[in-house]
Amino acid sequence: KLVEGFKEKASKLAMPEGVRKVFDEELNKLVHLEPSASEFNVTRNYIDWLTQVPWGVHSPENYDIQHAIKVLDEDHYGLKDVKNRILEFMAVGKLRGSVEGKILCLSGPPGVGKTSIGKSIARALGRQFFRFSVGGLTDVAEIKGHRRTYIGAMPGKPVQALKKVSTENPLILIDEVDKISKAYNGDPASALLEMLDPEQNKSFLDHYLDVPIDLSRVLFVCTANVLETIPGPLLDRMEVLEVSGYVSAEKMNIAEKYLSPQAKDASGLNDVDITLKPEAIEALIRYYCRESGVRNLKKHIDKIYRKAAFKIVTDLGEEALPEPKEPETTETVESADPDVKPASEHLPGDNSPSPGEAGSTKHVTTEPRKPLKVPDNVHVTVTPENLRDYVGPPIYHKDRLYTSAPPAGVSTGLGYLGNGSGAVMPIEVTSMPGKGNLQLTGKLGEVIRESAQIALSYVKSNAYNLGITKSDNEVTLNDKDVHLHMPEGGIGKEGPSAGTAILTAFVSLFTKTKVDPNIAMTGEISLLGQVLPVGGLKEKILAAHRAGIKKLIVPVACKPDIDENVPLSVKKGIEFVFVEDIRQVLYEVF
Ligand code: ATP
Ligand code: MG
Repeated sequence: KLVEGFKEKASKLAMPEGVRKVFDEELNKLVHLEPSASEFNVTRNYIDWLTQVPWGVHSPENYDIQHAIKVLDEDHYGLKDVKNRILEFMAVGKLRGSVEGKILCLSGPPGVGKTSIGKSIARALGRQFFRFSVGGLTDVAEIKGHRRTYIGAMPGKPVQALKKVSTENPLILIDEVDKISKAYNGDPASALLEMLDPEQNKSFLDHYLDVPIDLSRVLFVCTANVLETIPGPLLDRMEVLEVSGYVSAEKMNIAEKYLSPQAKDASGLNDVDITLKPEAIEALIRYYCRESGVRNLKKHIDKIYRKAAFKIVTDLGEEALPEPKEPETTETVESADPDVKPASEHLPGDNSPSPGEAGSTKHVTTEPRKPLKVPDNVHVTVTPENLRDYVGPPIYHKDRLYTSAPPAGVSTGLGYLGNGSGAVMPIEVTSMPGKGNLQLTGKLGEVIRESAQIALSYVKSNAYNLGITKSDNEVTLNDKDVHLHMPEGGIGKEGPSAGTAILTAFVSLFTKTKVDPNIAMTGEISLLGQVLPVGGLKEKILAAHRAGIKKLIVPVACKPDIDENVPLSVKKGIEFVFVEDIRQVLYEVF
């Protein structure tokens, strides 16, 4: 009967010729094996997997552009580029009747919606969705499967995905391609390439199944925080869509139109008069959530509604329960439930448990519990004043360490932090009698250390021109030790972009001239004083804007980037100076 079962299953599938042959052979083998033989199980499992692959099964593809626009806008604010690209993709699909293997790669800072828009794209296209993360993946068998002889062998993720979604044309989201590990057990990156490459994936060979599988109808979408660490051949075949961080105004919109209603719904507060004031959201963005993504903002908003739910329920008291014989109310169970949410990643739609399901695991009756009716006279308003009661004290207090003129030897740089936010970073240098050594502190990375050395060498070799020494061959700086520090010491800093600011701090120190703290700068320097372009401009300018910086000195090569990617509202009030040589920087500052 087992054999009959398999046969029936197989008859419903359009197995390719070769696969059918393997299937028949294996089935034949199974018939002649003793059920107690160990090989019996192995063979049975194998046939089972073979019949679980959705050979020839597709979900109908939806190329309705209007529908797609609606779905995409429903789930996400902004992200114009990504959305447009998807619509173009659909237009092509509509004209050709099929979409050939395209690999999209969404790249950007954490929490900007890369993973969740992947899911939304699947919904827009009417495809099944499967997601797996290759972050930290080291074993090639995760992708290619184990050989069948291996105990507990399994096919790799792509085959598992097909089984799970039961269609040959799902959207598979490969999360964190930039964090795929370097070879140590086979080469996962090349296996990934084999799976993604439209040239090869028509006949992807899984070690376990050992028959070619057609992955060419799968739409692959990858996500990454940075592009640098994606293996070259892989990156080459991808179409990269940059998703940059959000500015405050965008975050405001996302919070008001998406995060807040979602959180309200998830906390079962839909029918309750609860207002989260725009001013409160503004304060949240300014003093609690400065990173360029919105995940942290989402957590805070979730927390507000959760706390509100808790407050409402406890204020109502036990006697207000609809069914007094039950020990717990739905609401308390529910308000406790979202507690686990921030820890794991939740996508919209995932996080709206219907009140009945929320906590009713051990119920005798199957009847869903009725939601608690909150009386109409309950009103909750969250304002900047009472925000603290919900989310605790603010995390950020001020935007700058120095607001009034600091002593000579301090300049203001701009940094791009690991969490995707920009920051205004003062650079402090001092000197003391010594032997010309340079000491660096503030958890600085290799590249920053080199920038400091370059800057110091430049200053030393141009000491006379800079007005530090009185004659061209005087050596003053070699009898001093120099110490450079970048607060805050606990946060790691890396990258070449502090070059101009470091150099300015040195010049300020040795010429005993103060630098106006309203001037900030970013730019890499070469040993001979050229100013080279740097990245993260949008985030840095945002930080400068928040900190009330008046003048920003940036490499001229960054101008197109700024013109295109930084909203006018942010640039307003900042004077930009574009430079290509360090002398222009010093001229502006001193
Ligand atoms: P990571 O790089 O850390 O994986 P990510 O870019 O994948 O980050 P998501 O998990 O997709 O980030 O997004 C975090 C949360 O923010 C999600 O709940 C998502 O719905 C929400 N979100 C992000 N951008 C938007 C947007 N433009 N509109 C509405 N919600 C958004
Ligand atoms: Mg993600």
